[in-house]
Amino acid sequence: MLTELKHYDEEGRICALNRLEVLDTAEEVPFEKIVNLVQQILQTPMCAVSLVDRHRQWFKARRGLGVSETARDISFCTHAIQQSNPFIIRDALEDPRFSRNPLVTDAPFIRSYAGVPLRTSDGYNVGSLCAIDTKPRLFPDAEIAILENFARIVVDELELRQIASSDHLTGALSRRAWTEKAKLEIDRAQRDGRPLSLAIFDIDKFKLINDTFGHPAGDLVIKAMAGLCMSTIRQSDVFGRLGGEEFGLIMPETGAADAKVLVDRIRMHFAREPINLGQPVSSSVSIGVTERKPGEVGLDTLVERADRALYAAKHEGRNRTVLIPQDVSASKLTAA
Ligand code: GH3
Ligand code: MG
Ligand code: MG
Repeated sequence: MLTELKHYDEEGRICALNRLEVLDTAEEVPFEKIVNLVQQILQTPMCAVSLVDRHRQWFKARRGLGVSETARDISFCTHAIQQSNPFIIRDALEDPRFSRNPLVTDAPFIRSYAGVPLRTSDGYNVGSLCAIDTKPRLFPDAEIAILENFARIVVDELELRQIASSDHLTGALSRRAWTEKAKLEIDRAQRDGRPLSLAIFDIDKFKLINDTFGHPAGDLVIKAMAGLCMSTIRQSDVFGRLGGEEFGLIMPETGAADAKVLVDRIRMHFAREPINLGQPVSSSVSIGVTERKPGEVGLDTLVERADRALYAAKHEGRNRTVLIPQDVSASKLTAA
């Protein structure tokens, strides 16, 4: 089933693109094969797997194009991602949107273009697979169908790599891999009637760190947080990077009170040890914790509850752990 297009949500789209962890990576055989095939079958001098980043389009694979990226505002692909259907320009010189475009009036002298959106399984158009000619050209339905098929293969390839792979920056599981493993652990806990807890970590005032020390310094803080977690947790725990500076931790065989003790140890250690960003900088993290209730089998329910706990931790002043629901034993523990 095709997921509804979420083209209006640019922030979400950029996040979906980032989750694929593909921008600025090296050449890879599957994508090279696809652009070769498209070029051979459609007989166009140019073809590309283009990913549309916030301000640029970057080519994961390209034929006949001299540069690895162009500004977004002149790119044809930025038009292709605005719609669900293929975006086709038969003659750019006849189209007022493109007739004065530098990619048309100057090298590579684009004259005709067909781009099919690369739509992720969660509904974001992250780029396009496009065939480009230096002559005016029709793109018959049969050719568009071929492009559409290859575009699906490109997305499958990008998404499958994510299932297998870990997060490049931290070495933690990627969100997708974490989700898969978390679900398996929840099923197991339900089957065996065993406890299981979930914690969600979110670094405090992280935007301020990026703004003050720069994005690469922010990355170091993310790495420090992940490194600390990974060196503290048990082998059976499932730790993943859920997004920017947010992490998830599934703790099998662990009730809420023990889970809170474990993550609080991480939290306090993180707050205590400054990170070297050219100068020592202190940071902190807020954590939401929840335990699976008997019969609960959905990861989403647990994440929603841990998120609420995290929100409460932020609201109450940050650098703290909040447990939901706050049962009797846990309240005692919090008060202690
Ligand atoms: P809060 O205490 O409420 O969590 O405040 P915050 O500033 O941490 O707010 P928020 O969680 O919304 O900020 C997350 C920021 O992280 C926004 C985004 O620009 C940045 N970010 C996302 N991914 C990365 C990344 O991979 N590296 C770096 N350096 N920054 C990132
Ligand atoms: Mg956050
Ligand atoms: Mg944050």
